[in-house]
Amino acid sequence: MDLVGVAARLPLPGETVLGDEFVMMPGGKGANQAIAAARAGGHAVFLGAIGSDSFGVTLNARLNSAGVDTAHLRTSYGASGVAVIMVDRAGENSILVSPGANSTFTDLTEAEERVIADGDVLLCQQEIPVGTVIAACRAARAGGTRTVLNAAPARELPPELLANVDLLVVNESEAQAITGTETPDVPGLLALVPRVVLTLGGDGSRFAERDGRDEHVPAHAVEAVDTTAAGDAFTAALAVAWGEGRDLLEAVRWATAAGAVCVQRLGASSALPTRAEIDAQFER
Ligand code: ADP
Repeated sequence: MDLVGVAARLPLPGETVLGDEFVMMPGGKGANQAIAAARAGGHAVFLGAIGSDSFGVTLNARLNSAGVDTAHLRTSYGASGVAVIMVDRAGENSILVSPGANSTFTDLTEAEERVIADGDVLLCQQEIPVGTVIAACRAARAGGTRTVLNAAPARELPPELLANVDLLVVNESEAQAITGTETPDVPGLLALVPRVVLTLGGDGSRFAERDGRDEHVPAHAVEAVDTTAAGDAFTAALAVAWGEGRDLLEAVRWATAAGAVCVQRLGASSALPTRAEIDAQFER
């Protein structure tokens, strides 16, 4: 759950500042991408954990009302994951992420491994313990399910994880963090995983395969009003299209249309496009 408070300026350590508005928004990269995948026409099964607090009730309802399959969603006794976000009027922010229930998701049950093995594609993010992401990618490999890792938020990627990733999706800052370079190093990423999609905001994306294609896919020329959920819309649409067996470059093009619809609207999950909207933008 994102708890967002706006004030004229951010408080200094030990200081209390009187704020303006406050909003509460369901968030979490996994939840946002599951909703985006469902809206893009995929059957999205969500594996994750909410807390037993009131935020958990809202987060669960949000996933269900968006058509995400929550049959395997865990409820752990205690707090849900929250991000406490302070924003000043210039848009500068300070964020405290408290993982809550996410930190209790430390292993996979047999039922969870089975649902991964039965899927077409596994899409992971990095807001749960890394050992669980590794276990999920291994279960996918064993079951012939493709694995996509959206390495967000950026953190160290152990070799056991990279060995089980078929496609890495990163933005520029995540790419830099992974290779420890000042600019995104696609050959460096391809030394770690066989396929990479590097998103470049309004410049589109770059799709590269080890010993294969290296293509720049331009963004659609649209009027961007809010780029908040563009990465989630793009990544989820990419996973849905690849899971349907489309060629990966075609899937990147379709995902680019999803990103383009998203940036034309205000808001986070409410801006995520439906399949019909992505198809219509794709034809433009
Ligand atoms: P993130 O939010 O993860 O940093 P990006 O900002 O790179 O992700 O956006 C993901 C994708 O969304 C881009 O690759 C692009 O296709 C699309 N996109 C982002 N910003 C724009 C924009 N201003 N105009 C059109 N498409 C955009």
